Amino acid sequence: MNLTVIGTGYVGLVSGTCFAEMGNTVTCIDVDANKIENLKQGIIPIYEPGLEAMVTRNIKNKSLHFSTDLSSHLEKCDIAFIAVGTPMGDDGSADLKYVLQVAREIGKHMTHSLIVVDKSTVPVGTADKVKATIQSELDTRGVSIPFDVVSNPEFLKEGDAINDFMKPDRVVIGADNDEAAKKMRTLYSPFFRSSVDRLIIMDVRSAEMTKYVANTMLATKISFMNEIANICELVGADVNKVRIGIGSDSRIGYSFIYPGSGYGGSCFPKDVKALKKTAEEHGYTAQLINSVELVNDKQKLVIANKVVNRFGEDLSSKTFAIWGLAFKPETDDMREAPAIYIIKDLVGRGAKIQAYDPKAMEEAQHFYLKDLEGISYHNSKYETLKNADAMILLTEWKEFRSPDFEELKVQLNSPIIFDGRNQYNDILMAERGIEYYQIGKN
Ligand code: NAD
Repeated sequence: MNLTVIGTGYVGLVSGTCFAEMGNTVTCIDVDANKIENLKQGIIPIYEPGLEAMVTRNIKNKSLHFSTDLSSHLEKCDIAFIAVGTPMGDDGSADLKYVLQVAREIGKHMTHSLIVVDKSTVPVGTADKVKATIQSELDTRGVSIPFDVVSNPEFLKEGDAINDFMKPDRVVIGADNDEAAKKMRTLYSPFFRSSVDRLIIMDVRSAEMTKYVANTMLATKISFMNEIANICELVGADVNKVRIGIGSDSRIGYSFIYPGSGYGGSCFPKDVKALKKTAEEHGYTAQLINSVELVNDKQKLVIANKVVNRFGEDLSSKTFAIWGLAFKPETDDMREAPAIYIIKDLVGRGAKIQAYDPKAMEEAQHFYLKDLEGISYHNSKYETLKNADAMILLTEWKEFRSPDFEELKVQLNSPIIFDGRNQYNDILMAERGIEYYQIGKN
């Protein structure tokens, strides 16, 4: 099929590339001319394992193209995907300005019958707004062209996005029309050739809701376990053991019950807020969802509070080594990363920070911690330790799992670790003579 993907960010670039990999002809469109120029030369704007090789291969075999010009590509297209950002608005709701801007562009330029797919995460009712926006542009032009608006929320995870897209747990399609649903099934069926058909077709509103509910459910599991971790500390229990004790129950399972420094990233924080807002707009106070957020906001500072308990409120003579800045491993994404909040809190108390992350240092330097005084960036995890008073682990990158603890002891002023991701074993830490602080166990 001939596909146009509008918005070439994490979702648009990964989806477009994977569709091209399956033999479709895909053009990824973006308003960022610099990004598009770089992509044409195979320069990828994000770090995502496996993506660069796949983009290069598909550019070479002419199945993947990049452009800033939507109008000329719409002429040849069977399906147009909207994959632009839906950032958090001032009131917490999803800001639809980019989505509706794309809808207007589609209405202005479409020349033939076409399926428009909302792949961006959008609140219930957005497909209706997209439909009305396109129709209004067609009316202005005085033309009548049939089109369908389908919801196809994306569930990929940054850091494992290619795998998620190529072998999805499920693909959700919200369509109010059998023909459109059939065409979407044809597009996705190659992704299920070696597994059972995991395509779930439903009405548009339920599909829109499914994405928010999935993210909010996962965020709820994280906040629940973090709350339990905080209670464990008070009652003298070990959350690591409690986690294994409950995860072994098949009704509960092990995933997303790892205590830590809270959830971050481009999706959970804004999607939890947006679902709460949607409920509010319909006169419902979502108390549980509200608490999920409150617990997470507090959790981001648990490690900073432990540092203060150990070293005192005034940290002006202290230096800390930070291992990990990204909101999770295998990505350079720092949107809403707990590291931002923890580092700012420590710097606010006068501390100096020596930071290292395998992929996210540019993001930190140029955007999220830009102009922050008191932070320096280093080329390796060991370099951050020199003359530091403690190491603080904030992202569970694999290279932090089994470091050389003897080297760490030599480099640090005194052997102290604050572990914001519970990566190490406290008994082994004690045997090595390391003062060790983690989440959910004193
Ligand atoms: P992003 O910010 O990485 O990318 C959005 C892109 O859209 C940018 O490159 C921007 O320049 C472009 N854009 C904005 N307006 C445009 C326009 N009018 N025409 C063409 N391009 C335009 O965003 P993202 O992380 O890819 O997220 C996109 C959507 O997918 C969001 O709704 C998000 O919630 C959802 N989502 C994201 C993830 C994720 O892991 N990042 C996962 C699932 C769903």
